[in-house]
Amino acid sequence: MRKGSIAENLNAVSERIVTACRSCDRADDSVTLLAVSKTRPAADLRAAYDAGQRHFGENYLQEALEKQSALTDCDITWHFIGPLQSNKSRDVAEHFHWMHSVDRLKIARRLSEQRAAGMPPLNICLQVNIDDEDSKSGVAPEKLPALAEAVVALPNLRLRGLMAIPARRIGDEDQRTPFRQLAALLDQLREQLPDAELDTLSMGMSGDMEAAIFSGATIVRIGTDIFGART
Ligand SMILES: *Cc1c(COP(=O)(O)O)cnc(C)c1O
Repeated sequence: MRKGSIAENLNAVSERIVTACRSCDRADDSVTLLAVSKTRPAADLRAAYDAGQRHFGENYLQEALEKQSALTDCDITWHFIGPLQSNKSRDVAEHFHWMHSVDRLKIARRLSEQRAAGMPPLNICLQVNIDDEDSKSGVAPEKLPALAEAVVALPNLRLRGLMAIPARRIGDEDQRTPFRQLAALLDQLREQLPDAELDTLSMGMSGDMEAAIFSGATIVRIGTDIFGART
């Protein structure tokens, strides 16, 4: 458990982001901090919000919807980042701005169909199983081009980029390898789909944020270092 208050922790994480950006000649504002608030009560999100945080990531739908109802007075951008069963897609389509964990066409089709008329398109990242781990969700890299091509054609989605949760390596240098691989996959997609606005690499968590930023992350997803250890 970190000792600082949520506001202090947010400040420290923001400073780490700026330091990491400067160490690799990136602009200070080229990385968006997504506060991952799964298992945290709405009061903790409000504390972060009051300290200036606007992007929040949630993994569990029921829990997320309850917090959203408690925070309707806040101007929050909501990101869904967890695994999603297709029969729960409607809640994501109707209540979120971003979905980071699309890894199959069936889910993408449902999200597009269920996105309410009048809402802006749902921002989508395709989750890639970058280390080919049996235990992890995500599309295999070789299946990514076909999935991306089908997803950009869906009317109520806006494909923004890629997301991954690589295995932890020992050492910052080794940790960069999977992040570089994800960045290379995004470059390939940009060539394949020149009309899509592919501007997002959602990668890096509390333990590997610097390696991700060094490799081109545009969204880092940070839970523990903001809210403390989850029980
Ligand atoms: C929980 C979670 C995070 C945050 O992890 P921390 O190590 O607590 O920073 C980021 N991304 C996803 C997909 C998660 O499920």
